[in-house]
Amino acid sequence: MVAALRLELAGIAYVLLEAQPRFGGRILSQPVAADAGFGVDLGPTWFWPHQQRMQRLCAELGRAVFAQHVAGDVLYQQSSTQPVQRSGAGEGMLSYRVEGGTQSLIAALTARLDPARLHVGRPIARIAHGDDGWYVTSEDAAGALRQIRAQHLVLAAPPRKLLQINGLAQCLPVGLPAALAATPTWMAAQAKFVAVYPAPFWRQDGLSGQVFSRVGPMVEIHDASATADTGFALFGFIGVPAEVRSQHSAEALQDACLRQLVSVFGAQAATPDVSYLKDWARDAWIVSDHDIGESPRHPELDLSVWLAQLHGMQLHFVGSEIAPDEGGYLEGALGSVETFTRTSGLFV
Ligand SMILES: Cc1cc2nc3c(=O)[nH]c(=O)nc-3n(C[C@H](O)[C@H](O)[C@H](O)COP(=O)(O)OP(=O)(O)OC[C@H]3O[C@@H](n4cnc5c(N)ncnc54)[C@H](O)[C@@H]3O)c2cc1C
Repeated sequence: MVAALRLELAGIAYVLLEAQPRFGGRILSQPVAADAGFGVDLGPTWFWPHQQRMQRLCAELGRAVFAQHVAGDVLYQQSSTQPVQRSGAGEGMLSYRVEGGTQSLIAALTARLDPARLHVGRPIARIAHGDDGWYVTSEDAAGALRQIRAQHLVLAAPPRKLLQINGLAQCLPVGLPAALAATPTWMAAQAKFVAVYPAPFWRQDGLSGQVFSRVGPMVEIHDASATADTGFALFGFIGVPAEVRSQHSAEALQDACLRQLVSVFGAQAATPDVSYLKDWARDAWIVSDHDIGESPRHPELDLSVWLAQLHGMQLHFVGSEIAPDEGGYLEGALGSVETFTRTSGLFV
């Protein structure tokens, strides 16, 4: 979306094809109430003080940021038979959040792009490269195949998903398909649970909302409120492996998460206004079989060996996994867009 913004601002014609019915990919926020414009994050939540590109993007898009709520005690859940331990130990590292959820960045980006160039629900099924450029075949809502010819091709899907597009691997320089296949999709096998409450009862009890648990199903819990003082919520990373999660219904997992919140925070946690579960391992446009069951590791893909060839083919990569630094993070995705604008020869 940011690559599209750079093209839009430079007056360069483009077409943006997104497989899913919504823009955002791993960025996904849900509303805290039916009539609320702001949301809680089921995908990325934080960025950190050293991540200047994210700070610049929020400023450019006019989105307010706030510090993650960490003031208060931390809870430790060691086993289901021991009482929960409380420690005043940590306030945690400073991290930032986007007011109203990270998806508000996607909304702000969408508003700045020409709607005629944006296409959701248009999965790319085939890519071919000829003497006169790139041929990209996508499927429209009616299942009809539509072909576009383009001078430059900018790829933004996770590397392993790119390899599932027919024809692409055959177009790539020798060695690059194997490197893409070896690049994990950051957090793709994760699942998150979020519960929204009318009041921040944990803060009122002197708690930060942070919990570290060896009991589960959530292994880490944090305050997930939509702004510093509205849309109060808690979220947790689910520690149950994706293969095990797949054997249980979403309802059973949500119930188990809620019971865990009650066991650490008390009865007030039992009745959220609304709760959400997002199992990214079930999101077929993000996760690949390889990502499930692999230990999480940060992607590190150095394209420099292939750069001259890619440049010659007018082929560019802008995803988070293909980042000069901060690979896997939002900041990394912005870094790869910077590389694109600097090296593509399009922005003169
Ligand atoms: C649970 C979770 C927590 C996270 N927490 C953080 C965090 O706190 N901070 C942080 O910095 N990062 C975090 N991340 C990582 C962050 O979400 C990613 O770095 C970032 O969103 C990746 O953006 P991207 O545009 O590179 O890829 P994606 O968001 O994966 O977008 C790729 C897009 O390609 C589309 N696509 C795939 N195949 C096709 C096809 N054939 N045709 C058309 N479109 C296709 C997909 O639908 C998707 O929209 C988290 C991720 C998850 C899942």
